[in-house]
Amino acid sequence: MKRVTIIGGGLAGAEAAWQLASRGVPSHLFEMRPAAATPAHRTGDLAELVCSNSLKSEQPQSAPWLLKQELRRLGSLLLRVAADCAVPGGQALVVDRERFAAGVTAAIAENGLIELRREELRELPEDGITIVASGPLTSDALAASIQRATGSDRLFFYDSISPIVDAETVDRTRAFPASRYGKGGEDYWNCPFSREEYDRFYDALTTAESYPLHEFEECRFFEACLPIEELARRGRDTLRFGPMKPVGLIDPRTGRRPWAVVQLRAENLRADSFNLVGFQNHLKFGEQARILRLIPGLENAAFLRYGQIHRNTYINAPQLLDARLALKRRPEIFFAGQISGVEGYVESIATGLLAGIAAAAAACGGDYAPPERATALGSLVHYVTQSDAKHYQPANITFDLLPPLEPPVRDRATRRETQCRLALDALERFARAHEPAFAA
Ligand SMILES: Cc1cc2nc3c(=O)[nH]c(=O)nc-3n(C[C@H](O)[C@H](O)[C@H](O)COP(=O)(O)OP(=O)(O)OC[C@H]3O[C@@H](n4cnc5c(N)ncnc54)[C@H](O)[C@@H]3O)c2cc1C
Repeated sequence: MKRVTIIGGGLAGAEAAWQLASRGVPSHLFEMRPAAATPAHRTGDLAELVCSNSLKSEQPQSAPWLLKQELRRLGSLLLRVAADCAVPGGQALVVDRERFAAGVTAAIAENGLIELRREELRELPEDGITIVASGPLTSDALAASIQRATGSDRLFFYDSISPIVDAETVDRTRAFPASRYGKGGEDYWNCPFSREEYDRFYDALTTAESYPLHEFEECRFFEACLPIEELARRGRDTLRFGPMKPVGLIDPRTGRRPWAVVQLRAENLRADSFNLVGFQNHLKFGEQARILRLIPGLENAAFLRYGQIHRNTYINAPQLLDARLALKRRPEIFFAGQISGVEGYVESIATGLLAGIAAAAAACGGDYAPPERATALGSLVHYVTQSDAKHYQPANITFDLLPPLEPPVRDRATRRETQCRLALDALERFARAHEPAFAA
């Protein structure tokens, strides 16, 4: 059997190699470190965690827990190693990063079906099954090759993520539904500001603390996407003429145009949440929690995600990928990890695992059907491949990616419990259909 080529021995690539090997499929795993560096990695180990050492919540019935449970059921190598080197972390799965990377590296090195090659792959292979898992800091030569293969406007180099708010927590006696000039139906909810409210918000925003930028992120940062706090520093009214412009909107409570607005947009695949349009920012999360609640209508808001801007290489997955995470135009090339358009350590492991299973099916001439939408894995793939390509932003797992229950369940705890039960039942069907040939 021909070897599958995997580019990148990070979280996604290492998991993909393991899944292939568990199904008897040999691979070449190309990792350019330590000979070639990335600006964030510090070692030559596989699966190095570049920043925090947390794999997020282990609290039962939470979305990150559900995703990890599904991965455990599917025999994830990385979650098994994580369990072996967990350190106390309250409700979260926190690992000793050195032992984690060393454990994954040893497991891969000892596996006779995985040939680890310490080289940079600068071009997408012409043929053969390939998994691209080169991460948010993909080398320049490979990024250029991916750009050529996918089209010049289908590769992003920065994440510019707006905060997302739980729809149930928006005060709809203050926010009102309307599109500018009545065009486009009622896709937006608008949070209207009086002049005094705007001034208070503005003062808080311009004095808030930001995260320091990594050195490698400073160049081109501002060309790519201006954070709101940076726009605000250009002048008191800049936001009112930019993302907070009130034109074409009348507040039904006052009958007048507000002084400024923040628009909330329902995302097509996020049933219970709204995106704060144009509100990408680089503020510390605690500061965002405080400042965003100064927006009229969001005083008691629960934020599912805070705004972020950082260096990230990823493809426009909804345009390019099918449900197997393979290129629609070159179905032998799979994408996994951050470059496939997900965000986060566990989500990267998850897409690596799925791409590994799908590529193994392709290598063996077997069938592959992605996990059902009811699962966290299935919902992640659905989001990545079915979102609106025009507004695509990478996602991490949250309940609003899962399908809403029919009929709706009002009580949140019961809803979560039901969603998790349905997810794990559906996952069981996927697991049985794609059982590995060898015990891991
Ligand atoms: C600075 C930074 C901090 C982050 N912090 C967090 C965090 O705290 N929590 C979180 O959940 N997520 C975080 N992320 C996001 C993300 O979860 C991680 O980047 C994660 O490691 C992504 O996994 P991956 O497998 O896609 O990529 P990686 O783990 O980066 O693996 C990709 C691998 O490909 C190799 N490679 C690249 N190009 C080539 C090539 N041409 N040939 C051969 N090898 C190549 C790289 O050396 C690397 O080892 C962070 C991202 C960045 C950039």
